[in-house]
This record gives sequence, C-alpha cells and structure tokens, in this order.
Amino acid sequence: MTSSGQLNRDIVVRFAPSPNGLLHLGHAYAAMVAHDFARERGGRFLLRIEDIDSARSRPEFVEAILADLKWLGLTWDGDVIFQSDRFESYAAAVERLKDLDMLYRCFCTRTSMRQAQEAGPQPEGPDGPIYAGTCRHLEPVLARERARTEPHSWRLDVAKAIARTGPLDWYDERHGEQIIHAEKLGDVIIVPKNTPVAYHLAVTLDDARDGITHVVRGDDLFASTDIHRLLQALLGLPTPTYFHHPLLLDESGAKLSKSRDSASLSVLRAAGRSGYGLVQEFRAANFPVGISLSAA
Ligand code: GLU
Repeated sequence: MTSSGQLNRDIVVRFAPSPNGLLHLGHAYAAMVAHDFARERGGRFLLRIEDIDSARSRPEFVEAILADLKWLGLTWDGDVIFQSDRFESYAAAVERLKDLDMLYRCFCTRTSMRQAQEAGPQPEGPDGPIYAGTCRHLEPVLARERARTEPHSWRLDVAKAIARTGPLDWYDERHGEQIIHAEKLGDVIIVPKNTPVAYHLAVTLDDARDGITHVVRGDDLFASTDIHRLLQALLGLPTPTYFHHPLLLDESGAKLSKSRDSASLSVLRAAGRSGYGLVQEFRAANFPVGISLSAA
C-alpha cells in the first residue's frame, strides 16, 4: 500500500522461478525481496513459471514452488503465468530478429568450444566464457546447407545489434546508471539447439507483455540485463527499472544453489519449520550473509 493506503497499480513486479529443481533458501529470499518490493509500494506481484526448457522442467517442481510460496506467506496477484503457453510469441520475435538480420546460425559443439577455451581462455560474459565468434562470418549459403543435417543454435550478433540501436543504458535502483559495453557481452544464444527460445529473449518479451515496471532479481542476473536492454531496443519494447539484490550466501561465502546441497524449502516445510518465521528472519536481517544452513 502507498502512504495513502491506495494500491499503486502502476507498479508491477514478478518472481520468475524455473521449475527444474526444488527451491532453496536463496529462492525464498529472492521471492521475498520481489514480493516486499511490490507490496511496500502498493504494487502488483506476479508469479511467472519459466518452463521453456521442457527437458528439465517438471510439473512436480511447479507444484512445489506454489506450495513453498504459500508456506512462506508470499501471495501473488492474478493467475500463475506459464512461459510454456507463450511459445508462439517467442517464435514471432525470433522471426523478427532474423528479418532484422541480427541472428546467425552457430554449429559449435560443447567440445569445440572447450577446445577454443583451451587455446586461449575467453573473458566471462553473462552466459559463461564469451563466445569466440567462430560461426559469425560463415558464408550464409554454406550455413544453410549445413543446417540441413547439422544441429545448430542461433546467436545474436551483438556488435551488429548495437551498431543498429546506438548506445544504450538502463537504470538499477541499487547499482545506479548502467551503460552497455558490447565487448562484455559476447554473442549470446537466442535459440538453443534443442529448445525453441533461450532465457534472454523469453524473459525480455514476457517482462514487456506482463507490464513489469520493476525487475527485481538477484545479482547473478545483473550481467544479463545488458542483453535484455539490447533486445528491448531491437524489438521496440519498454525498459523497466531494475533492482538486483545481493545473493544469499552460506557460511563459507558461497552462493546457495540448486546444484549444491542447499536445504530445499520442501524439506524445511516437511520438517515443520515455519515459512512465515523464515521470511520474518530475512526481513529482520539486512541482506543476510553467512546464514547457517543447519540452523535453517
Ligand atoms: N527464471 C530465472 C531463474 O530461475 C530468473 C529469471 C529472472 O528473474 O529474470 O533463474
């Protein structure tokens, strides 16, 4: 609510988990930050399930996410949004980017890229080591011919894209004004080999479609925002304000992640812990670092 007690419908925030594993404490913290950001400003809080990767997304993880959020006492507005309902809009945007000549086919494999890394390590971009650009200048006729038989992804030609859009910036309420530097991005994948669309394009389109005014998410996605800003400029989409929050760290200073054995919220829930109490602890601590997983 605003100070006048009115809902401020102009503010729309979302939590956008991927249902490819169980949520852990880091997610609870992220969900709470986004939720409270919206509620404290009297805005709307949406829940979007980012299930474009059909090989890794599972309905049981969707169920667990909904149960975890309810357990935490975090409520959302309207129906749950599923990215898997929106493949047509992603495909249309991919076609638009192809029409603008911003994408190129990439035939590189994990092995060939690892070999390129061994020859000389590339600096890190939003998606790991920056792509060396091996397929960027393939002869189009040859690339089309190879595409008949060889699996391939589509990458964004970032230099070409920025040459089209001109200099770009965006604003983060915590980190301040940001200017895009093409050399830090690399040609990220827009259409992976086995999935119709990559995270960067889907999230950019959906934040616009859902009317998100403030993208509140963890610092792990900070570097990706340059890509999203670039896609917004190419596709004529609005640019939200951003707020990248610090990540919850364990006692050794490492980020909590699904791949490590972080306590899942489902386990804490089943053990009878209070989700509301957990959120209250987060709220009481200012950007907690070094939480004790065993005590949690
Ligand atoms: N789906 C992404 C994830 O679970 C988050 C997307 C976002 O907040 O932009 O990491």
